[in-house]
Amino acid sequence: MSLTLYNTLTRRKEPFRPIDPANVRMYVCGPTVYDYAHIGNARPVIVFDVLFRLLRHVFGETHVTYARNITDVDDKINARAAQEFPSLPLNEAIRQVTTKTETQFHADIAALGVLPPTHEPRATEFIRRDDNKVDMVRLIEDLVARGHAYVAQDHVLFDVASMPDYGRLANRSLEEMEAGARVDVAPYKRGAMDFVLWKPSKPGEPAWPSPAGIATPGRPGWHIECSAMAGALLGDVFDIHGGGIDLVFPHHENELAQSRCAHGTAVMANYWMHNGFLQVEGEKMSKSLGNFITIHELLETKTFGQQPWHGRVIKFAMLGTHYRQPIDWTVGRLVQARATLMDFADVVSAVSPADAPHADVIAALSDDLNTPSAISILHGIAKSAQRNAESAAQLKATLQFLGVYGEEKRGDFAVGVEARSVDAAQVESLIGARNAARKAKDFKEADRIRDELAAMGVQLKDAKDKTTGEIVTTWEVKG
Ligand code: AMP
Ligand code: ZN
Repeated sequence: MSLTLYNTLTRRKEPFRPIDPANVRMYVCGPTVYDYAHIGNARPVIVFDVLFRLLRHVFGETHVTYARNITDVDDKINARAAQEFPSLPLNEAIRQVTTKTETQFHADIAALGVLPPTHEPRATEFIRRDDNKVDMVRLIEDLVARGHAYVAQDHVLFDVASMPDYGRLANRSLEEMEAGARVDVAPYKRGAMDFVLWKPSKPGEPAWPSPAGIATPGRPGWHIECSAMAGALLGDVFDIHGGGIDLVFPHHENELAQSRCAHGTAVMANYWMHNGFLQVEGEKMSKSLGNFITIHELLETKTFGQQPWHGRVIKFAMLGTHYRQPIDWTVGRLVQARATLMDFADVVSAVSPADAPHADVIAALSDDLNTPSAISILHGIAKSAQRNAESAAQLKATLQFLGVYGEEKRGDFAVGVEARSVDAAQVESLIGARNAARKAKDFKEADRIRDELAAMGVQLKDAKDKTTGEIVTTWEVKG
């Protein structure tokens, strides 16, 4: 079985060769815990869960180590804490915010059917340690000692000019980056692209004893966190580093610069993998556009498509697009994923799973996680399962391997659907809006409304009125 993965560092698909097949090591950047995780944040969680499962299948369950961090020290967290708990001391308020958000994150992603990672380090546990594991302060002091970082006005900065191939991951030269940079060029910086490893804390802000040479307490910059946690848990050099495409620059470029320069290694990770971005109904997700959706809202409320969605439906819908492509998150996609899982449940709910997932699905995933191809293979297996009990058993094993099915029955995937009563006036008004969109030749909007109605269980029938020639739309509720 040969596994190939697209490597952002080399910009091509490469055969995956682990450093140690008995301990394959993967690090993925996790959430900053100050607010509900949104559906875009769910994408790396889901994508790298499938990779984790595949690696465990190929190399053995106990031979894969997966670390995904929790960032619990960040200016956004401080701001949120001060706003939400103004009467508490800041450190106590921060603890409230991070604990609450982390608990919510775990509840949300557990519903998606993802495996817990092997390690889930919190950044604050790796600022200073009493054991001899790598920590942030030690990394920073090593960088200064090796001439890759300097102290200036109680900050420690990474000296980008000290690393000849800085920019290789992002595929940009230092000159290009400097020209395009909108970073504030603080007077104490030697170079415009130099970035913060450590900064002073204002009174009341979280603070730790600073690296050698700085008397006032401070706190770490963002990038150094992941270098320390990955180094401490996976070693100086490991196999796979993942995250969303937005993290390539500056976060991952800076992480690898820090780790390589502190450890004196040629690489930090051998394979760098990035998922594409998620947008909602054709638009960038943003609070101001009003299309910002959290995982929690999808699971528990009627914010998207007028109803809650089963976590496994969300996961399955996400896997319908290859992880490197952008994904458009639509109600129609969820409706389709749900219909498929319902049909699969009919086929597999009463059978015992086979011992192993289907080889063709493993082969599709082994080609740079080709989940759309894996799903079309699943449809084929489901078809033959109608006549063949062995196929049904294989389908079940494969769905369970992917974590898109447990022991659900068809109806279990229809969360909130049975309890729904359709508001006829609302349906008529949506049909009116759809017809108006069609007249205006806005077929995308018309389809979106049709999907929204389908999600409510409303099926439309278009027919031409014989006398007027107009399209007349009738509707019915499908169970
Ligand atoms: P953050 O908490 O913003 O650092 O994001 C946590 C993870 O979610 C990172 O791996 C990001 O790259 C990823 N991410 C954030 N927004 C999106 C999005 N809209 N689509 C896909 N991935 C995203
Ligand atoms: Zn990171």
